[in-house]
Amino acid sequence: MEREKIEDALLLYLKNKGLDGMSLVSAMFDMDGVLFDSMKNHAHCWHKTMAHFGMNMSLEEAYMHEGRTGAGTINLVSMRERGYESNPEEIEEIYGYKSRLFNACPEAPRMPGAYELLKQVKASGIVPVLVTGSGQKSLIERLNHNFPDIFRPHLMVTAFDVKYGKPNPEPYLMGLQKAGNLVVNQSMVIENAPLGVKAGVASGCFTIAVNTGPLPDSALLEQGANLLFSSMQELSDSWILLFDVFSNVKL
Ligand code: MG
Repeated sequence: MEREKIEDALLLYLKNKGLDGMSLVSAMFDMDGVLFDSMKNHAHCWHKTMAHFGMNMSLEEAYMHEGRTGAGTINLVSMRERGYESNPEEIEEIYGYKSRLFNACPEAPRMPGAYELLKQVKASGIVPVLVTGSGQKSLIERLNHNFPDIFRPHLMVTAFDVKYGKPNPEPYLMGLQKAGNLVVNQSMVIENAPLGVKAGVASGCFTIAVNTGPLPDSALLEQGANLLFSSMQELSDSWILLFDVFSNVKL
C-alpha cells in the first residue's frame, strides 16, 4: 500500500477523534479469518446445520454474521425463516450440532502472512492482544503452537470474558483495559468481519479491515473501517511503512 493512502486514513481518523497523534503500544487481533483461515469451515458448518433444522442460511450470510454469538445468529435466521425466535433448548441443540460438525473439520491452517506480521509487530515493540468471540477450550495451546512466543494468556479476550460480544465494542474495550488501561490512540484493531469492524470502530480505535473472505470490500468499508487490506500478506508487507506513519505523522 502507498504511504499517502495510510497517511490520509490516519489524518482523517485523528481529525474525527480530536487527537493530535498516535502513541501506539499495542495492536488487537481478531482470530478467525485473521490469524487462522477458519471461516470456510465455520460457514459450511452453519449452512449444513441450518439445513438440518429445516432453515436456509447461505454461505455468504454466515460470513455476514461472523463474530455474532451462536444464539444471536440462530435467532436471526429463525426469525426470518420461521417468523419466531428459537427457544433456549433448541438453541443449545442447534449450536451443539454446529459445534460437533466444526470440531470434525480438519484444523484450519494459519492465515498466510499472519505469523510474519505478528513477528514484525513484536519487533516494533508493539504488544499483540487477541480479541476473539471464540470459546474453544484448546485456543491457547493452538495459538502457542501456531504463533510461538507471540500471545500471553492475560492479554487475550475470549468468549469467556465478555457479556455482549461483537458488534458491541465491549471486547475491544476490554482489550484496551487488559493491555494496561490504554486509551484509543495507544492501540489499533485488525479485523476481517463486518461486525468485527463495527465493534472496532465503536471502541474508538483505528480499525484495519483485512478482506480475507468472499464478501465485497464495501461490506467492511460500510462499517467504518479506517483502512482496508486485501490480505494479511499485504498488511504484513506494509507493516514497516504503516508503523512509521503511525509513529511520525501528527495532526
Ligand atoms: Mg474474524
